Amino acid sequence: AKRSAGTDFVVYEPGMGDTTVSRKDTTAELAAAIRNGELTTVYQPLINVSTGRPIGAEALVRWQHPVDGMRPPDQFIALAEESGLITEIGKLVLNDACRQAARWVSEAPAVNDLLVTVNLSARQVGDDEIVDQVREALEASGLEPFRLVLEITETVLMHDRDAAAATLWQLKGLGVRIAIDDFGTGYSSLAYLRRFPIDMLKVAREFVDGLGRDAHDDVITRAIVELASTLGLLTVAEGIETTQQQEHVSALGCDLAQGYLFSRPIDAEAVRALVGEQDWP
Ligand code: C2E
Ligand code: CA
Ligand code: CA
Repeated sequence: AKRSAGTDFVVYEPGMGDTTVSRKDTTAELAAAIRNGELTTVYQPLINVSTGRPIGAEALVRWQHPVDGMRPPDQFIALAEESGLITEIGKLVLNDACRQAARWVSEAPAVNDLLVTVNLSARQVGDDEIVDQVREALEASGLEPFRLVLEITETVLMHDRDAAAATLWQLKGLGVRIAIDDFGTGYSSLAYLRRFPIDMLKVAREFVDGLGRDAHDDVITRAIVELASTLGLLTVAEGIETTQQQEHVSALGCDLAQGYLFSRPIDAEAVRALVGEQDWP
């Protein structure tokens, strides 16, 4: 429903009115949730495929709603993007991720390649402020820049290519690393991988899913891993749920893996305990 100016009755516009208001309500609710500290960050461990050792994690935001319980990011990230609240949320996640990863490093000094990854959405990459946000998060936490990996999707790269390239090169200048998330699902071309300072490719769950069952998925995953190794990029296989998939990504030479087989997203303290365990090869 929509209140028309200068009148005290409600004009009901079928189809669009309801969503407009509920969207407005949810935006206000999300803004309040940020203020009230209802947004938290969980971490999904990243596993070194050849040793089986957890070497860090991907930061994933969660909204702990007081009435509805846990709200997954798919339910509010798009709204956060549209409303601009993503800037605030992004800052929270970035700061938490850097702070937590710095603690993991002090817990596990022997893990040279320890890292944390953080998702950046299109609006964040399009916003100049991101460079300052990242610099500040690194400074405040003392985390070494190369340990922070920023994940962006191919869609983000395509969105405004020149602006995205400029931002990514500035971020790269801080010493952080850049990953392409869900690689293979967007419209990327090999030219991107030269134009943008990319360090890591994350093979989309979509392809990992069919490994060992679907010949196409095998071929695509193999091609991505070979491309990455030729270009000197790290590869991560996402969404590993079965030992069969694990064996395949291992045989293909993927560097890192992530998925429910190893761990669901967990709290930062649990990651600290995992990476700090001494009995890894
Ligand atoms: P994503 O970046 O591709 O993150 C991976 C998603 O796959 C996560 O869902 C994770 O919990 C889920 N996942 C991990 N392993 C498995 C598995 O073995 N099987 C299956 N079926 N799923 C698995 P989540 O946490 O619900 O996040 C969904 C999406 O929301 C993320 O997809 C990302 O695009 C976005 N997102 C999450 N946190 C943030 C954030 O802090 N900032 C931004 N901009 N986006 C975020
Ligand atoms: Ca991601
Ligand atoms: Ca992904």
